[in-house]
Amino acid sequence: MNKYDLSVTEFLRQSHSGNIDYNDFIINYLEALKEFDKKLRLMQCINEKTIRPSSDLYGLPVTVKDNICTAGMQSSAGSKILQGYVPPFDATSVARIKDAGGFIAGKSNQDEFGFGTFSTNSAYGIPKNPHDPERSCGGSSGGAAGVIAAVPFPQIALCESTGGSISSPAAFCNVTGLTPTYGLVSRYGLIDYANSLDKIGLIAKRVEDIVLGLSIIAGHDKRDSTSLNVQQKQYKINSSLRGVRIAVPKEYFENLDESVEKSVWAAIKLLESNGASYQEVSLPTTKYALASYYIIATSEASTNLAKMCGMRYGLHKPLEGNFNQYFSAVRTEGFGEEAKRRIILGTFARMSGYREQYYMKAMRVRTLITQDFKKIFAKHDVIAAPTMPTPAPRFAEIEKMSALQNYQMDVLTVPPNHSGIPHISVPCGDFIGLHLLGDHLQEEKILGVAAAYEGLRK
Ligand code: GLN
Repeated sequence: MNKYDLSVTEFLRQSHSGNIDYNDFIINYLEALKEFDKKLRLMQCINEKTIRPSSDLYGLPVTVKDNICTAGMQSSAGSKILQGYVPPFDATSVARIKDAGGFIAGKSNQDEFGFGTFSTNSAYGIPKNPHDPERSCGGSSGGAAGVIAAVPFPQIALCESTGGSISSPAAFCNVTGLTPTYGLVSRYGLIDYANSLDKIGLIAKRVEDIVLGLSIIAGHDKRDSTSLNVQQKQYKINSSLRGVRIAVPKEYFENLDESVEKSVWAAIKLLESNGASYQEVSLPTTKYALASYYIIATSEASTNLAKMCGMRYGLHKPLEGNFNQYFSAVRTEGFGEEAKRRIILGTFARMSGYREQYYMKAMRVRTLITQDFKKIFAKHDVIAAPTMPTPAPRFAEIEKMSALQNYQMDVLTVPPNHSGIPHISVPCGDFIGLHLLGDHLQEEKILGVAAAYEGLRK
């Protein structure tokens, strides 16, 4: 029996009243983290330098996705090309967690640069699902969700989503993940995938842990030019369902695995029988979301990755040949197959002559998708849908998928990410998540409904 198997709230309460021997707690936590990491490959590195706990978080362990910079700790975004890169600074979100008294427990494993949905594209081993090691943790923040699911200690995970990387692993590992409104959490210190899409968010066991974390990391940062002009604040949620109007988009229920359809409908009916009302609606631009997302995401990624050339960060080789030969040698070794595929796709989409045909068109489609959402939110508080079209797939199934079939798994997570609207995945079945989407900056609304659902499901 592990005496530290406490909720975050209980840990903070007991720490406050002096009932936790922090040294003993953190030793036990790190031991457990290492043990699960050995079995499941959940981390890129684990921090051995523990801290002296201080309020408000009393040394609460926080894992940080490998693509978020941490001073003095390798930050490699799951890529070999960044092996050995140890940033001299903290990302703003990390600095805020440290200032609040959190302990940065290490860097969680992920798909290289966030390129993937199953974390099978990591250079640091493939994380396995703690509930069934033959299945994927989801991705790209697979390690972050896996640690929350596996290690029975109070903790939260800082992670990032471009097109679904928080929701997918949260759903597949039966934990909760919030992707905030684009610009609400500073991207300063994030190793970017696609700047117009990247968002830092949180994975945790309970909705209240997410509320706590968001109150620490959200709010304006002058070091991120896309940071919204929103003050840091204490988020408060109201978990009453009375009067809550839910929209259920019919396009999000096409081609689902039967178990997903059943679990999500059961969740919606449960919300309804406890005070909410729901209405079926249509989001007709849904079918264009994947195509436009992959054009925009790969275009932006291909320019971002140009700086990875073996000169400034990470992997180096002996200087041989001209600069072109040197860059090619480093990139050939440092980038994985999926990164190479995306560089080629993105570079093609941006080529002169094609820009109007692909990139600009994709940007216009993106606007239409956002307009579709805005129409729904004029009449409804939240959208309820499945997070992923299937439960967590087995590795044997993933191996048989083509690159295109991989991308198609993101069909439900890409639209809200594309539009930068907040969304949260809460467990509603084995390896299945209920996805709740809200209008820009309506985090409290979706968190409230998520908390209500979590309470009802217990
Ligand atoms: N699976 C999507 C992609 O590969 C999203 C990943 C992410 O959000 N980083 O682009």
